[in-house]
Amino acid sequence: MNNHEKISLKPYNTFGIDVRARRLVVIEPDDDFRGKWEVESERLLVLGGGSNMVFTKDYDGTVITLSHSVTQPLGRSDTLVTAWGGMVMDDLVQWTLDHGLYGLENLSAIPGTVGASAVQNVGAYGAEAKDFIHSVEAYDLLERRYCTFSNADCHFAYRDSLFKHQPGRYLILRVTYCLSETFIPNLSYKALEGMPHDTAQQLREAITEMRWSKLPRPEEHGSAGSFFKNPVVDETTYFRLKDEHPDMPNAYRSDNGYKLSAGWLIDKAGWKGRTQDRVGVWPKNALVLYNAGGCSGDEVRSLAASIQQDVKQKFGVALDPEAIII
Ligand SMILES: Cc1cc2nc3c(=O)[nH]c(=O)nc-3n(C[C@H](O)[C@H](O)[C@H](O)COP(=O)(O)OP(=O)(O)OC[C@H]3O[C@@H](n4cnc5c(N)ncnc54)[C@H](O)[C@@H]3O)c2cc1C
Repeated sequence: MNNHEKISLKPYNTFGIDVRARRLVVIEPDDDFRGKWEVESERLLVLGGGSNMVFTKDYDGTVITLSHSVTQPLGRSDTLVTAWGGMVMDDLVQWTLDHGLYGLENLSAIPGTVGASAVQNVGAYGAEAKDFIHSVEAYDLLERRYCTFSNADCHFAYRDSLFKHQPGRYLILRVTYCLSETFIPNLSYKALEGMPHDTAQQLREAITEMRWSKLPRPEEHGSAGSFFKNPVVDETTYFRLKDEHPDMPNAYRSDNGYKLSAGWLIDKAGWKGRTQDRVGVWPKNALVLYNAGGCSGDEVRSLAASIQQDVKQKFGVALDPEAIII
């Protein structure tokens, strides 16, 4: 276990925001950390790869992160693969394909760690982590005990899980994915029509290429990926908007309403490509806010608030951030 005092978190968040943590603890798979933290009296933040985080000030507490040094799963039993929470998710995707296990290929190139894939229920191109997560092993920092969650226990929903509602309580140490030995390409997402898919590796590469043609590469421009969630509206709102804006893309029907494209709303409101202070709206994808050069978290928050206000005024739709603002 490595302890760092008063350390900059700039290398630990993909937005590249320069704030300091009072303490940063990096955990390796064999570390015994039971009872190490005074959860009741100490502010704790669990950090993965920091790819969905926006820090707005120094963190006056302890940031706990799992080492990213592990590049192979910890174990495999038939189609069940168990990976360390700090493993880079995309390394796991590649490993599974290399070992004839399929399902995760549509989640290729999503930044971040295996542990966070369960917290966030990451999703892309018609697939979500919840479709493949078998179980999650965590350390309960409040009750100081290890616990295991089945898929149902995790209460997965769109970019949501039980873990998101109790931040700082569970440290996810291992996630077990249940995969398939047969490759059945999932081309349900419209943008995948016509993609090469003779093999899962081909589909992975095509998806990876398409993703990076629309997203800022973290090594060039910091971002947290999609900054806002796609809003879900009721039937009356959807048909009112469809009437007013016949060019609005069709909404996905979900259990609780109609899921609109937040990117389209932001683009239509005229924000695509605009910058405010040192933060911009990515010219190829209006859903992404990016660091246009040494921005602060407050500048990100301020641009996000301007967009939310404008979209609300123009369309009567509230946008909720997908990124976690600390
Ligand atoms: C360019 C770009 C593209 C993206 N594209 C997508 C996409 O297509 N789909 C998508 O779903 N997301 C996308 N994201 C968002 C991001 O990749 C995911 O949310 C990812 O799961 C975050 O992983 P992380 O390890 O960086 O987590 P962090 O951002 O560090 O943390 C996210 C949350 O998980 C918690 N957490 C992290 N690790 C653990 C752990 N071990 N135990 C307990 N809690 C933990 C944190 O406390 C926090 O609440 C994108 C981000 C970027 C920068």
